[in-house]
Amino acid sequence: MSRREFLRGVVGALVASATSMGRSRAEGGAGERFEIVKSDDEWRRALSAGQYAVLREGDTERARSSPLDEERRPGVYRCAGCDLPVFSSQTKFDSGTGWPSFWVAIDGAVRTRQEGIRFFIPATEVHCRRCGSHLGHVFGDGPAPTHLRYCINGIALRFEPRPTPSAGG
Ligand code: FE
Repeated sequence: MSRREFLRGVVGALVASATSMGRSRAEGGAGERFEIVKSDDEWRRALSAGQYAVLREGDTERARSSPLDEERRPGVYRCAGCDLPVFSSQTKFDSGTGWPSFWVAIDGAVRTRQEGIRFFIPATEVHCRRCGSHLGHVFGDGPAPTHLRYCINGIALRFEPRPTPSAGG
């Protein structure tokens, strides 16, 4: 390979990565289809402004801004866009980051896509399998058994506490 061919390859790779990073996170990857599809207007009507920014525009809420960061009750966390159960309290842990954190998602509930480099670390975006809404990111520095850390925006979740068994029931 000549020096010139080598350089052409490097430039091509850089352009390809810049192009994939520029794609809107809420749009989904090439060929990705979702069960629930809404127009932008429908999403704006269905969500609060804060939810829309995170779920549909890939924004990140401020650390420690969600009450779900400190939520400790047993229950299920649903996608705020479509109500699909996406995380369980059983896999939630205190990451100290200020965002609700889980070491695994509910089976088949989320999908991921490579997002390029974010703060010098390769970032993997996490979105809802059913409606494609952006939920957060997943990193490889979580606890056992998966060693994953799903760093999720609380505003992208709806917590449903498990009903407490009634006395004498
Ligand atoms: Fe969803």
